[in-house]
Amino acid sequence: MLLCSCKTENSEVPEDRYSVFQKGFASSMGNKIVESPDGFYLFNGNFLTFLDKNFENPVTVCDKPECRHLEEAEEHVVECNAFYGNPRDIKYYNGKLYIAADAMDGANQAIYQVDLDGNGRNKIYTAENQGEFCFLIYKGDIIAYEQQYNETQVSAEIIRFPINDPKQAETLFSGKETDINNSGISYLINDEDNLYFNFVDRKKWTDIRFYTTDLTSNETERICKDADRFLLIGSDRLIGSENIERNNEDRTWENKYFQFSKDGKLEEELTDKDYEALSRGAIIDGIDDQYIYLSDICYGADAPPAEERYHYIYTYDGKEAGRIYQTGTDSWSFYPGNDDYAIIQDYDGTEQVYYKVDKSLIESGQTLEPIEFFRFDPTEFSYFYSY
Ligand SMILES: [Zn+2]
Repeated sequence: MLLCSCKTENSEVPEDRYSVFQKGFASSMGNKIVESPDGFYLFNGNFLTFLDKNFENPVTVCDKPECRHLEEAEEHVVECNAFYGNPRDIKYYNGKLYIAADAMDGANQAIYQVDLDGNGRNKIYTAENQGEFCFLIYKGDIIAYEQQYNETQVSAEIIRFPINDPKQAETLFSGKETDINNSGISYLINDEDNLYFNFVDRKKWTDIRFYTTDLTSNETERICKDADRFLLIGSDRLIGSENIERNNEDRTWENKYFQFSKDGKLEEELTDKDYEALSRGAIIDGIDDQYIYLSDICYGADAPPAEERYHYIYTYDGKEAGRIYQTGTDSWSFYPGNDDYAIIQDYDGTEQVYYKVDKSLIESGQTLEPIEFFRFDPTEFSYFYSY
């Protein structure tokens, strides 16, 4: 297999579009899919896989002569160029891929830099331990979240360093300086010159706090204090939610939703007058530069019947622009994706399944059908290999 890593000369899409943080493919603890000028990369369990611009023709990203990739015997599988131990985050930057995975010489986390054809793997950073880890790239700098441990504290730290010089790392945020001593971060998002992240007490899992860092000055402030569950980053607004009530027995809850300015000031509470699907108990779970996505809930006493569950597509001014059928289980994740496709990742009981939704059909008014494009068995996923 050969992958062309050369840039198309008359490309209508500037390289910069791919090198910025791809919010539409972000999930908690890193991106599972990343877009390059030629197509998409994702992990088939442990194996880096390339798909074309329509999420078709998957190929394992390894040029090694006679390598049988997934078919290799277990003791040789780590020698495949496409193999990564417990891969958890993938980014594209200036013609290369950056992948967070187990460091092969120990249990710690590492960031690898690799060519688009899978060659030239180079470990550019090794974290101090094996706790939670994810990263993004902003104007030539890595911004990484890692957990640090000492006898009394588990602390969430965000550091920043030039891609080629981790020794210059400076701390942007330290959980040690807060009142929480068992802290974590589950998302780290960059939008233009701002970093947004949450900060969680891992003992309680409630009262999630949100912060933003101005990446031109490295100044951090807490924002959106009305929100304690999630925060979505749109082109001209933030949307957050607050949990009002929770019943673990029948798995129901009540949330409030708020719209904030990009710098985190409260603008209004959102109700079913803004997005009608909120009256069905739908949750707001995605935003891109054009649309806001709501989804019917799929479990608990308040869930509508399975055949009446949709993802809803709203314009920023609250008009319903379309609907997407849900994929039928209660374990999907919805990603707004890029301009062409939204992505749904689901687990069907035995396999992880990826679906694409063609956004060019939104204007047709038909209810959109997610199209399966990739699946793998996660039980073949190996958590740790050492050389
Ligand atoms: Zn191989």
